[in-house]
Amino acid sequence: MPPALVLIGPPGAGKSTLTGTLLERFRLVRVATGELLRAEIAAGTALGRAAAQYVERGALVADGLIDQLLRASLDAIPADTGVLLDGYPRNVHQADVLDAVLRHTGRPLTAVLALDLPDAEVVRRLGGRRECRGAGAPWVLHVDDAAAVARCRAAGGTPVQRADDRPAVIRRRLAVYRAETEPLLTRYRAAGLLRVVDATGAPAEVATRAVAALASAQ
Ligand code: AMP
Repeated sequence: MPPALVLIGPPGAGKSTLTGTLLERFRLVRVATGELLRAEIAAGTALGRAAAQYVERGALVADGLIDQLLRASLDAIPADTGVLLDGYPRNVHQADVLDAVLRHTGRPLTAVLALDLPDAEVVRRLGGRRECRGAGAPWVLHVDDAAAVARCRAAGGTPVQRADDRPAVIRRRLAVYRAETEPLLTRYRAAGLLRVVDATGAPAEVATRAVAALASAQ
């Protein structure tokens, strides 16, 4: 049966960075609600216009809009293909919707991988996070990584800060995570699905820990 894997973690924990390894290792298709929302906002669709006001202030986008986005993206993936949910679910309502949608498509929830990162490190990482834009697909770098900044500029790109990576918005997103998303871990722990991974350190180290934690869940 095709697996469904959920990736949960505070903003800046490295969820999206980790997905490259997981997609390749477990042959999954990624559904990242944050990225889908940013694409809708950039394209100026009705959903994007409605979602923008939430994203800009670091709040969770209204459940009705996210439900629509999730159902449409899962419907577009062949039933025999596994999915990696990056940034979804983020509250109890979304976890309920996910259970229902997965039951409907015959995809069991295989595991929930939770990235663990202290608040101070979240603030440090997000405060320095930039997207290299203007040189192919945008990729993420940190301002302290001089080599990455140089690589971005050499390719004709510019490191740009996401509007929701400003300090006040970072604090809000972190508070929302601790209040609304983190409690889901209790539910997934009780279901025997939870794997918690230490997200400190270099991306390669985190990826190794994550693959090891998930290998036992396959
Ligand atoms: P991310 O790229 O996952 O950090 O998401 C960026 C922003 O998009 C979040 O701060 C929320 O405003 C919004 N967002 C992404 N995923 C969700 C979701 N599952 N539910 C509600 N809002 C979301």
